[in-house]
Amino acid sequence: MSKFRKLSSVKYRILLKAAQVANAQKPLSLQKKKFMATMNDFCQSCSMPMAKDLQRGGTNADGSKSKMYCSYCFQNGKFIDNFTTAKEMQQFLRKKFKEQGFGPLRRWFYTSYIPRLERWKKK
Ligand SMILES: [Zn+2]
Repeated sequence: MSKFRKLSSVKYRILLKAAQVANAQKPLSLQKKKFMATMNDFCQSCSMPMAKDLQRGGTNADGSKSKMYCSYCFQNGKFIDNFTTAKEMQQFLRKKFKEQGFGPLRRWFYTSYIPRLERWKKK
């Protein structure tokens, strides 16, 4: 009996700990904010994470860094490519990813968000 009690108290402590951990992760709005912040860290033309851009962003016409577009898309205030639709960008990237050996699922995943990026949104 005493052995059982001891065991159940251990179990209780584990449950308590789990509840504490769950509570610590509770501020959802903060997590959501963090998520939104990381969403803004993607190139708004090709959806590449800006953190992966060695130059940390393209350049505006005045030489300052672009916070919206990566250096592969945007230089001196202009887009390097002359794509006019999200579809063109998707096709271009899927081809590129294929060359890099990405499977179909990853090719789809990495290009699926492109139509919702700032550059391709219908004005
Ligand atoms: Zn880009």
